[in-house]
Amino acid sequence: MTDLGPDSFESSPSLPREQRLRAWAEVDLGAISHNIARLKEAAAGAQLMAVVKADAYGHGLEPVAKTARIAGASWLGVALLTEALQLRRGGDTGRILSWLPTPGDAFDECVRADIDLGVGASWMLTEIAYAAASVGRTARVHLKIDTGLGRSGLTVADWGDLLKQAARLERAGSIEVVGVWSHFAYADSPDHPTIADQLQVFEDAIELARAAGIDPQLRHIANSAATLSLPEAHFDLVRPGIAVYGISPGEEVGTSQTLGLRPAMKLAARLALVKRLPAGHGVSYAHQYVTDQETTVGLVPLGYADGLPRRSSGVGPVSVRGARLNVAGRMCMDQFVVDLGDSEVNEGDEVVIFGAGDKGEPTAQDWALACETIAYEIVTCIGPRVARTYRGGS
Ligand SMILES: *Cc1c(COP(=O)(O)O)cnc(C)c1O
Repeated sequence: MTDLGPDSFESSPSLPREQRLRAWAEVDLGAISHNIARLKEAAAGAQLMAVVKADAYGHGLEPVAKTARIAGASWLGVALLTEALQLRRGGDTGRILSWLPTPGDAFDECVRADIDLGVGASWMLTEIAYAAASVGRTARVHLKIDTGLGRSGLTVADWGDLLKQAARLERAGSIEVVGVWSHFAYADSPDHPTIADQLQVFEDAIELARAAGIDPQLRHIANSAATLSLPEAHFDLVRPGIAVYGISPGEEVGTSQTLGLRPAMKLAARLALVKRLPAGHGVSYAHQYVTDQETTVGLVPLGYADGLPRRSSGVGPVSVRGARLNVAGRMCMDQFVVDLGDSEVNEGDEVVIFGAGDKGEPTAQDWALACETIAYEIVTCIGPRVARTYRGGS
């Protein structure tokens, strides 16, 4: 399976097209399957929702979704309603939850497409009920309690009113409440005191729902970090995202290796040119890097327009023929330079930006540390100009 981007090299027609790519993100679907199996084992009593929002964290929505289903994800989770509809158009027939609508969104299409809808505010329930009536179906909803994150969901103060509204709409047949759910503020700090507090608020909210005549079969609050480190938070369903892609949700939870996860994405490019520069020559904008001796530099045709952070200037790690180097000088829009010293390197040679790390190459986590961000952002930002290629699929 190869999704060729718009930007592959056309200069050497004798090579197979995949070898002519400027840059590519190779996704190991075998690693995705392995990670799902690992997460299912960690939360053995619960169902698993693979979170595939944001184009499967940059890995490609449809191939990842298909792999996740085969590996045993009975649910897929996405933020946007358009993402849920894209999954349906791609032929997915399983349970899908979508949770970040805006007023006037495509609720009617989603109800028609049998998408489960997260409800984080009263207006959503009103629009969903209206859509259900116009489509002539019952909408399945998951009511979200804000147990302390302070992001989406009803606060404890507003929860009672939402339950009344939901119970009334359920009796009228326009909705069915199948879930009550929430999200942690500090799941990546498994000992943080807010975790016990949020779990208590969650249990109380479920009790209030039952008292209001609502019986949610699916209680869910666990992201990757909680799936891997907080068994008391598993309930009926877990919602891991980042761990599906083999990346640790945070240092306090563990590393990919200690957690038994395999990073699925390798980002690589081919050197577009190689040349000698004399000692004392400035490199890239503002000459932030200056050669200390005569040397060979290589031009890597990937830049911040492809999602590499500009903050990686001077510090982003790469691997060329097994040697670790840093970005030399400024990261530009479409390109950056590496100082190759006197090594024998040719135009067209592969540069690994990040990978699984098992061949000495940097990982997305190494990029996150170098750029003072999180690996979520590194993989999710890899843009549409970079071709996705796949291996290890069934
Ligand atoms: C993104 C998201 C997840 C997955 O979080 P990870 O930290 O990537 O596991 C789970 N639930 C909700 C509501 C999310 O927005």
